[in-house]
Amino acid sequence: MQDPLRRQKNFDEVILGFDLEAVKKEAERCLQCAKPKCVVGCRVHTNIPKIIRLVKEERFIEAYEKIKKRNPMSAITCRVCPQENQCEGSCVLGKRWEPLAIGLIERYITDYVRKMGLYYEPMNIEPNGKKVAIIGSGPSGLVVAKQLVSLGYDITIFEAFHKGGGVLAYGIPEYRLPKQLIKDEIKYLRSLGVKFIYNHRIGKHLTFDDLNLMGYDAIFIGIGVCKPMRLRMEGQDLENVINAQDYLKRVNMVKSYGYSEKLYPLPRGKHVTIIGGGNVAMDAARSARRLGSETVTIVYRRALEQAPACKKEIHDAQEEDIIFQFLTNPVEFVGDQNGKVKEMEVIKMRLGEPDASGRARPIPINDSNYRIATDLVIIAIGNEADELLTSSCSDIEVGKWGNIEIDENGKTNLEGIYAGGDIVTGADTVASAIVAAKRAANNIHVDLIKKDKEIKRNIVNYYYLETINDLF
Ligand code: FAD
Repeated sequence: MQDPLRRQKNFDEVILGFDLEAVKKEAERCLQCAKPKCVVGCRVHTNIPKIIRLVKEERFIEAYEKIKKRNPMSAITCRVCPQENQCEGSCVLGKRWEPLAIGLIERYITDYVRKMGLYYEPMNIEPNGKKVAIIGSGPSGLVVAKQLVSLGYDITIFEAFHKGGGVLAYGIPEYRLPKQLIKDEIKYLRSLGVKFIYNHRIGKHLTFDDLNLMGYDAIFIGIGVCKPMRLRMEGQDLENVINAQDYLKRVNMVKSYGYSEKLYPLPRGKHVTIIGGGNVAMDAARSARRLGSETVTIVYRRALEQAPACKKEIHDAQEEDIIFQFLTNPVEFVGDQNGKVKEMEVIKMRLGEPDASGRARPIPINDSNYRIATDLVIIAIGNEADELLTSSCSDIEVGKWGNIEIDENGKTNLEGIYAGGDIVTGADTVASAIVAAKRAANNIHVDLIKKDKEIKRNIVNYYYLETINDLF
């Protein structure tokens, strides 16, 4: 990893990865369990023991072929998956020692094939005459596109923003996920014939009726959850009280995509306060640190143990001198005479009985209020579904929180319309979006074959296997 002192001053990737010697040494630690729990823990069920065996023999290209069978975006997931809760969290080595560094091993393999120029393989695609529209270019939309274009579909992605990649492009910071990976992914899809139509927010610039008139045989909705939740408290509208989504978007546009600060002004503060305990809060805090703030403080209403952020992210933030105030909740933002935030009033909390989420309920401690001096507050308490699209299509079934309802095959209640990713599950992970996208793409293909026997039947989606038993 980059040294903590050095990395606070740049947006370069923090984790540098293994070299050949280290990756082989790490692979030697694998116990090759007869019933590997890591495979079950992995959201896409990569055959981890098999790839580790190949790594030991330096057969990296074959190892990558194995990964690719299950995971169409491994260069990205190896960097951003919360492995501590997934494959590595299930590794039996972790009971007594450090679990196997599966993410770093996969990263070595995918970086190796990228360097060899083999990651983006050319394909001979035979068009099948069917058109599919994808709404949203986040990981779910990109994976549906990748799957279906390889089966001969004519794919158009409609994206509200002017860059593709969804949260991968404008949410996760460069120091965790270099944007070159997203640019290459999109360039590759374009080379396969996928069309990207940017600055088109479905529900505003085009409606579902417009898409139907355009003659699409199926539509996939992968619009994520992009409406930031508000705190609804005094001072919320003061200058320099902002949401993390907007903040990180600006940081990414300037620091990763090279836009000027004139176009995307970056809110800066000497004493920055972040509200929230998830990965988004860590991303905002560590970005503020890199933009030169003197102090960066994370305020979270529960204790460290309940914070939803990965332990690794919290550890890395602590190494970068981010201050944590756990069991602390904001009650009011206080402004100066110009309407700019200058302080945040908070109250101390204690933990009570578990609430609906299963975590201990935070309870305010009477008369424990105090103020934190701050000139920039970033709210990172989560995102919810933006109803613009669903309200423009009143027949589509949505749940209580505005999320789109689907069946077990990824289909909405409307014929030919499928959905997946965060817009279905609520804020989740990249790997979950990939799993949902694979399922939807597979079922779009199966349903269109049923309707039209002319579509080439040959291909059972090569990324998709029904059960993990198929692996062994
Ligand atoms: P998104 O990635 O949200 O993409 C949706 C796309 O749809 C966007 O490009 C949006 O502009 C577009 N769109 C929205 N509405 C419309 C419309 N009406 N018309 C057209 N286009 C539209 N997960 C991890 O696994 N690891 C991490 O480290 C991690 N870090 C995160 C950090 C941040 C800051 C955030 C916000 C999330 C993070 N996540 C992480 C979660 C992860 O990024 C999401 O679960 C994942 O991106 C969801 O993919 P998606 O395709 O459903 O939606």
